[in-house]
Amino acid sequence: MIADKMRPLVENNSAIRAMFEEGKKMAAVYGRENVYDFSLGNPNVPAPPAVNQAILDIIREEETTFVHGYMSNAGFEDTRDAVAQSLNRRFGTHFRLENILMTVGAASGMNVIFKTILDPGDEVLVFAPYFMEYGSYVRNYDGVLVAVPPDTSSFQPDLKEFEKRITPKTKAVIINTPNNPTGVVYSAETLREIAGILKKKEAELGTQIVLISDEPYRELAYDGVEVPYVTPFYHNTIVCYSYSKSLSLPGERIGYLVIPDEMEDSSKVIAAAAVANRVLGCVNAPSLMQRVIVRCVESQVNLKAYDRNRELLYNRLKEYGFDCIKPEGAFYLFVKSPVDDKAFCQSCKEHRVLLVPGSSFACPGYVRIAYCVSYEQIERSLPAFKKIAEEYGL
Ligand code: PLP
Repeated sequence: MIADKMRPLVENNSAIRAMFEEGKKMAAVYGRENVYDFSLGNPNVPAPPAVNQAILDIIREEETTFVHGYMSNAGFEDTRDAVAQSLNRRFGTHFRLENILMTVGAASGMNVIFKTILDPGDEVLVFAPYFMEYGSYVRNYDGVLVAVPPDTSSFQPDLKEFEKRITPKTKAVIINTPNNPTGVVYSAETLREIAGILKKKEAELGTQIVLISDEPYRELAYDGVEVPYVTPFYHNTIVCYSYSKSLSLPGERIGYLVIPDEMEDSSKVIAAAAVANRVLGCVNAPSLMQRVIVRCVESQVNLKAYDRNRELLYNRLKEYGFDCIKPEGAFYLFVKSPVDDKAFCQSCKEHRVLLVPGSSFACPGYVRIAYCVSYEQIERSLPAFKKIAEEYGL
């Protein structure tokens, strides 16, 4: 009954989700406080109070049939205008509401982009390590995901390897900064170099290459590090944003795409993306959440809580002998595995520490620790990490 194309997706079902389910089972046996689940990027910092207040106010103040009704496939005009104006204020851009398309989170935003631009056989480049779902999203439209191998000394993009992989079939490149799973942030210089390579290759090959900036972690950057806005660097950029992490609303499924006027054929791409949103079955982004965004467009989660977790976990793990770069953004540590990463995750599980193997991000030899958990969970888990380090002679 199941389609041939679907079978490998079921067989290789996300290791992250599998570990998360395992965590729930272990919690039932050992008690929640005795399982140290660092597997899923599910924010534990609550949504800003303004979000819940906005929901109450909207229900009281706005007309029910409007709040819960259909609207343009691209979203409510005032929501898109609020997003455009906020970006213009913060990043000096010049977007209009027409450049914004509200989406069902970043996952559907990426699907809308690929539905809009990919023909079968088109290649999409991505820098390893990367969020594994990209592979499924690209294959949904019969595209081919091509990974650029990582520079494990810094986890910054290896631009020589990148340039080598651009072919006449390259239709898009995905960047994700701040990055899941490494926490690195790309500097303005790096973005300039990426843009330079793409412009050179477009001219050389006579093709158009779309730079997709998948940025659900844009607001999660520490120590005042700048996360440069990508559209000023390169004309064919599409930004894919999500409020899943920035407002701690992953279950609400709300985000947006930015398709700038500078993009080749921009008005056609904008129109096609709205149709893609509809025919993929999303139709439009959740209406109540769109109403919330009008009121909370510049609200923020408490970043200090993640920063405190980052400092505690990073400093302790280094002290115990683990090898890891200090993340500048997002809420993940990407730690070198002393042995095969899958075997290491299994042995961490015996200490009730749940991690995700780097293989799940196309980067074996590392493990990901999601520190979007309570500070107390990190404190409680430290003796287990220490024991693991001792067991492996770190
Ligand atoms: N892109 C990256 C890099 C992510 O880490 C995630 C979720 O963890 C997503 C996209 C999907 O986000 P959303 O919940 O908005 O669909």
